[in-house]
Amino acid sequence: MDFKEHIRVIPDFPQEGISFKDITTLLQNGEAYKESIDELKKLVKELKIDVIAGPEARGFVVGAPLAYALGVGFIPIRKTGKLPYKTIQAEYALEYGKDVLAMHVDAITEGQNVLIADDLLATGGTIATCVDLIRQVGGNVVGAAFMIELQDLNGREKLPDVEVFTLTQYP
Ligand code: IMP
Repeated sequence: MDFKEHIRVIPDFPQEGISFKDITTLLQNGEAYKESIDELKKLVKELKIDVIAGPEARGFVVGAPLAYALGVGFIPIRKTGKLPYKTIQAEYALEYGKDVLAMHVDAITEGQNVLIADDLLATGGTIATCVDLIRQVGGNVVGAAFMIELQDLNGREKLPDVEVFTLTQYP
């Protein structure tokens, strides 16, 4: 399947000059959504995965069905202040200011093999922060899987020691 046929590209959103890749059109199509998860499952089939972690909110939409398909658990990584139990946190820089991501302190046990999942790899800042959190508790990041890669933003450079898998790429 050509996944690009199901992804809507919106110019100048959320600000001028950004060409936003909208996956809601893929998600609303049952066949395309199912095939995207099935294809991601194939891409990571050689990995030994104990658990999948995904950042709020679109990482849940990709990571949770992939976890279900693989028969492994799912760990939500959230904006600070949302998770009810004790958390560990990591900060990352945004274009203006910073953001903080959090994960339950007992979500991952030392030595577990973790696959990270999200909708889109842009600059890699979000996923590098997820890697930081997972490694803080001794998790072993075995890869990161995305529906979309924006290649010109060189996100892979921020993830030098992580194997990256993507379904479809844009310049
Ligand atoms: P990064 O941290 O720069 O790699 O940005 C990745 C995050 O930003 C992902 O969690 C995406 O959901 C979001 N994002 C950035 N650009 C787009 C886009 O064009 N479409 C959808 N999400 C985007």
